[in-house]
Amino acid sequence: MITVGILALQGDFAKHAQMIEKLGQRPILIRTAEQLRQCDGLIIPGGESTTLLKLMKKHALWDAVLDFARPKPVFGTCAGCIVVARSILGTKQESLGLIDIDVQRNAYGRQVDSFIDAVDIQLNGTMDKMEGVFIRAPKIKRIGKDVTPLAWHRNDVILAEQGCILVGTFHPELTEDSRVHEYFLRKIKANLFGICRNSI
Ligand code: GLN
Repeated sequence: MITVGILALQGDFAKHAQMIEKLGQRPILIRTAEQLRQCDGLIIPGGESTTLLKLMKKHALWDAVLDFARPKPVFGTCAGCIVVARSILGTKQESLGLIDIDVQRNAYGRQVDSFIDAVDIQLNGTMDKMEGVFIRAPKIKRIGKDVTPLAWHRNDVILAEQGCILVGTFHPELTEDSRVHEYFLRKIKANLFGICRNSI
């Protein structure tokens, strides 16, 4: 069984845990570096990235996540995507720099606080439709040459990967559709077999 840590300092961690359980794997809610050491992969959920950042530092999880991500898979959704990005446009907000993307926070404007829309997703070579839930979502404004886009909303990349780091600007834990989590679990399995590696 795969053990998936869900960073549980703030935000939408419970739904991710339910999804991992539904897929027959073991979720652990992570609040300490010690708990993180037991995990094969980590999900950093949506919430508020500035709060998440402060709490990660307070709980000694900032450096611990950096160390964890050197060999292991991390999936950042929404605020989690902001936390793992290379840089956040227009602010001096710190980030972990685990994936070569630049993001803009709250990029859909104040009047579009949240919305659900059809998105295009390509996880196994074929293009499919999916429902995307966006809540005060960021936009990925630049992806590096080693980053692979995996899903799009209109012209925006909304899911992407580099090595074993996966990021999404939407909330796949808020629908019944488990394809994105299944994809992340496959990355964790590939990492356990030494097939998927991080370049950081
Ligand atoms: N707007 C939040 C931020 O900038 C992210 C929102 C979310 O995670 N749903 O951190």
